[in-house]
Amino acid sequence: MPELLAASLIRDIPDFPKPGILFKDISPVLQSPAAVQECVGLLSEDAREHGAEVIVGIESRGFIFGMPMALQLGLPFAMTRKKGKLPYETVDVEYSLEYGAAVLEMHVDAVNPGQRAYIVDDLLATGGTAAASALLVEKLSAQVCGFGFAVELGFLNGRSRLNERPVRSLITF
Ligand code: AMP
Repeated sequence: MPELLAASLIRDIPDFPKPGILFKDISPVLQSPAAVQECVGLLSEDAREHGAEVIVGIESRGFIFGMPMALQLGLPFAMTRKKGKLPYETVDVEYSLEYGAAVLEMHVDAVNPGQRAYIVDDLLATGGTAAASALLVEKLSAQVCGFGFAVELGFLNGRSRLNERPVRSLITF
């Protein structure tokens, strides 16, 4: 369990971005270098244990934790992004949101065939975004060796959508 990443550093914002959603704001975590360092360290350790060869960050808060992990581990970093943001040739996956659908994309050369990819985001909610990112990795013939999140909303059971692959989260609500 983290010592520095306390639940008190995660701010609850009711009814954001729409009524009925309790948004878990990680901004206060980012104001504590020690807490960020701890998150990056613990998730990096997990990625190393699972033999990660590339860190995949999910737009946009996944970049905040994923890039320093890649640096710490000396691994390449790859991005999954919302449709229309990536300039080069892409693969895409459509996935369902609470209301409607969205598309995630990845550059075709972001991961290599056979590479072991560790997928990172700030928060696991329903798991739809992480599952779509895993599909992108697999479309490029790479494999997902694990997932890492700073925060997990356990009551939404997002893990069940991640096909029993290893999932590490640092704080669960
Ligand atoms: P999901 O696909 O439902 O697992 O949603 C995960 C993505 O949406 C992550 O990128 C989160 O940052 C964001 N997200 C979903 N629900 C919340 C929430 N209650 N508080 C903060 N971020 C959320």
